Amino acid sequence: AAPLLEVDDLHVEFRTREGIARAVNGVSYRVDDGETLAVLGESGSGKSVTAQAIMGIVDSPPGYITGGAVRFRGRDLLPLPEKERKQVRGSQIAMIFQDALSALNPVFPVGWQIAEMFRVHRGMSRSDARKRSIELMDRVHIPAARERVRDYPHQFSGGMRQRIMIAMAIALDPAVLIADEPTTALDVTVQAQIMNLLRELQRDSGMGLILITHDLGVVADVADRIAVMYAGRILEQAPVHDIYASPAHPYTKGLLESIPRVDLKGHALAAIQGLPPTLTRIPSGCAFHPRCSAAEALCTTDRPPLRTVAGGRSSACHFTEEVLSGVR
Ligand code: SF4
Ligand code: MG
Repeated sequence: AAPLLEVDDLHVEFRTREGIARAVNGVSYRVDDGETLAVLGESGSGKSVTAQAIMGIVDSPPGYITGGAVRFRGRDLLPLPEKERKQVRGSQIAMIFQDALSALNPVFPVGWQIAEMFRVHRGMSRSDARKRSIELMDRVHIPAARERVRDYPHQFSGGMRQRIMIAMAIALDPAVLIADEPTTALDVTVQAQIMNLLRELQRDSGMGLILITHDLGVVADVADRIAVMYAGRILEQAPVHDIYASPAHPYTKGLLESIPRVDLKGHALAAIQGLPPTLTRIPSGCAFHPRCSAAEALCTTDRPPLRTVAGGRSSACHFTEEVLSGVR
């Protein structure tokens, strides 16, 4: 059977005054029913732009999809007429963002905003839509949903607002949910609660979940697989446990070493030095070479392809085997 959602050799560029910013340079990933893929990267890695391309919200100046495919159950969405694309995206693929406050309309009660989903897309009556709103607020564990359905966004905490956004995203029972940094604006305790909620909803509904994050620490218990992005490419892709047990790429290794660990309190974190590249001037060879402590001359001239290694994983490093065996 065709994968639920598949991004295939996607290219996206932005035409800026400083030149062409190559935001996505041949990204391929897939997510299946009931599976969670975490897409990990620093800001500017192309993880959000890839998601925006899936949602069809990047293809207008200055952003252009210059190649590749986005297939939903085998059908490429990119060449479809706008109306058909909107149909698939509206009902089958939903997305939530980091900033729940600015995504909600401040002048309408939250229950009304959830109910609009049912009225607009399902043609429900006002009272049926309201009933469904309360059910959904219950489902995302907002206490006293029946009373709070009339409250306005500012009357809810950040975590509760994110729950409301999640309720709206799952209202139409999407097959795929994309969550772009859904917990970044929240404090650590609330982050864990939102992650647990996403996992619970995903397991109950069997939807595919794409979880975009810059924080390797938050996805360990939630993700099945991780794709690590850098400068618009995937550098490593693997089952989550393999990544934690033994990263195959120096960049992933650096990210892991910079996660604070309670058992190593007091130790300085070995954060990766330097900054991600400017996308109008991506370094030659391996784009990570200026920051890589394992780099050699070859790395500055030859770009390592994403190669399959053992155990359903892949890595784009000239020295993957040495990294895996701990020599590098
Ligand atoms: Fe580092 Fe070279 Fe591997 Fe790139 S290819 S990650 S620069 S060792
Ligand atoms: Mg982003």
